[in-house]
Amino acid sequence: MHLFAQRRWKYLFLSFILLFASITHCSDTNNHAGNNYTQNDEINDIYMFLTYSILYKTWQDPSKEVIGKNIGALLVNTTKDKILGFNRNAHSSTNNTTQHAETRLMQSYLSKCECGDLADCIIYASLEPCAMCSGMMTISKVKETIYGETDPWGGKALERLSLDSSELPDGYFPYPDVTISRASNCIIRKELDEAQKESGIFIYKFLMTGKAKEIYKKAYNIFINYEVKYKVNQIIYDNARDFLERELEKYYRVHEELR
Ligand SMILES: [Zn+2]
Repeated sequence: MHLFAQRRWKYLFLSFILLFASITHCSDTNNHAGNNYTQNDEINDIYMFLTYSILYKTWQDPSKEVIGKNIGALLVNTTKDKILGFNRNAHSSTNNTTQHAETRLMQSYLSKCECGDLADCIIYASLEPCAMCSGMMTISKVKETIYGETDPWGGKALERLSLDSSELPDGYFPYPDVTISRASNCIIRKELDEAQKESGIFIYKFLMTGKAKEIYKKAYNIFINYEVKYKVNQIIYDNARDFLERELEKYYRVHEELR
């Protein structure tokens, strides 16, 4: 075969491989983000999607807000193989503005665990923690929090506690204990952030909109149809699915109308 013809076939073959790789990557509805996607990344995503899913299946509309804002938090041990609890924001059912999801979650678990603090725990929060919840996370020694939506108004509270302004006149050293705060890398967090920014609607109100609900529905559909990339994570996913069913039954027992 002529040298030019050989090269042409080689280029055609390589182009086909690249095209196939790009198609399979784009059609990945499981949220597996590229080759650097680790087993730990997948576990974080499973728990984040579980958190979104409980909220979607107990969604609060502005006209009939029986529990509270569409904000939830999940407590998991640091080895990430055990779910320790879930709580929702309960502003409405308690008529108490301090009843945030993370605060309720931490206090509820501490009241029964006899562990004294939450040093062996991680929190997956659907929204970036506020100053009150960040304070409680720091005091109770929560190791890390991963959030599923950025709060452009009240966020970065954990980072503010870690800020070192001691070089400035009357400045401060960072707070001695640290809870690491990280934004989830999942596609839903990115979609929520973009949609909220585009809407210009204040974060808590945005989380009651049809647009937010639509993105949460997408998260739920990804979660229930999920296929693990790492076989070793199958048990994590199966436990998360069981937890979803049990948690929803708890809410539906009290609020039949949400079923
Ligand atoms: Zn809070």
